[in-house]
Amino acid sequence: MAETKSIQKSTFDAQGIRKDFPILARTVNGKPLIYFDNGATTQKPKQVIDAIVKYYTEQNANIHRGVHRMSQDATELYENARATVQKHIHARSPNEIIFTRGTTEGINLVGNSMSKFYHFIGDSLLLNPYDEIIVSEMEHHSNILPWQLVCEERGAVLKVIPIRENGELDLEIFKKILSPKTKLVAIAHVSNTLGTINSVKEIISLAHQKNSLVLIDGAQAIPHMKVDVRGLDADFYCFSGHKVYAPTGIGVLYAKEELMKKMSPYQVGGGTIKTVSFEQTEYAEGPLRFEAGTPNIEGAIGLAAALAYIDGIGLDRISGYEHELLKYAEAKISVIDGVKIIGTAKEKASVLSFVVDGIHPLDIGTLLDAQGIAVRTGHHCTQPLMNHYKIKGTVRASFSFYNTKQEIDFFANALVRSIERIKR
Ligand code: PMP
Repeated sequence: MAETKSIQKSTFDAQGIRKDFPILARTVNGKPLIYFDNGATTQKPKQVIDAIVKYYTEQNANIHRGVHRMSQDATELYENARATVQKHIHARSPNEIIFTRGTTEGINLVGNSMSKFYHFIGDSLLLNPYDEIIVSEMEHHSNILPWQLVCEERGAVLKVIPIRENGELDLEIFKKILSPKTKLVAIAHVSNTLGTINSVKEIISLAHQKNSLVLIDGAQAIPHMKVDVRGLDADFYCFSGHKVYAPTGIGVLYAKEELMKKMSPYQVGGGTIKTVSFEQTEYAEGPLRFEAGTPNIEGAIGLAAALAYIDGIGLDRISGYEHELLKYAEAKISVIDGVKIIGTAKEKASVLSFVVDGIHPLDIGTLLDAQGIAVRTGHHCTQPLMNHYKIKGTVRASFSFYNTKQEIDFFANALVRSIERIKR
């Protein structure tokens, strides 16, 4: 097998951007780090790290409860972060932004409202027996298990949209299983394993015609593309900060304001109430109703800094450059003997999954790691999808705007060497 050669230069200044990410200068196993595990978590620019250091060095105080200056300033920072998220995803109001621990918690929060019967302000979102929830075959476990639980608790039925061989959803079957019984459609905006960008606008419009709500799992969309929840008319949209250059432990659940009134409190405690007595408790309206206890203040501040950072670069430029990286990598990897790309949808984010004939993904991951390259191997928390393709797992390289074509060249050559070594 011949080693692959480098091609043309891009106009996007990835080298300049890399200087913002201190961790990218480190070595792994004595080799310069090539970080292609961005789908699992992204690295953090110094603008985000600095915002957190500044918070703890100069601004730390608890929020929402203090009259003193520092508490008021910290409250303002936290609420400004909510407004930054609102603008970033084009929500109507900051009151539609609930801070969570991440995507998984956002989905569980909505699931909780569909299965628990208490303290909603308007009508409830509670499911009735034989109601239906629709997910897809490509969902992350975090967007399957909460719905399995809800269906078990309420005697509801979980239905699944299958995928076509190229990794696109089969929307003809979706149209057939969608019915007046459908109460929720829960779909990934972008598949973490295949990179498929789902046509969520069309899915939402079809679901709304049957009066079903739609939750979009935006974990893998938010770092790669402009998200406009109003334009999409999404009912719920959730994502994790750590996948969009912000810290772990912070995430967002967007919910339309009128729907928030129908949602039961998830966890309760300080911050979620209007009044408390032993006889009766009245819960707050809006996002605070769902943010029990002292929240992740520095996480929210870090998230706002991360969103400001990527908005500074521009999501159109990010999408364009990452698409270039994906096409470049696909061209290099697909010609290697024995390699099969899993996920060849027309619209893809910069996620490249593949299998190699007769070789376990873990062995490839281990040999790449020895050469300083971080990729993900395994089922990527999408076991039903692995079952569809009748494989145990894939090797997944997921690219960020701080990656380069030179890194992809190195990766392709390292992959060739690894395959040769295993086959020897
Ligand atoms: N959904 C998708 C599509 C994901 O890629 C992930 C993370 N791999 C999640 C949900 C869960 O995100 P988190 O672990 O940050 O809650």
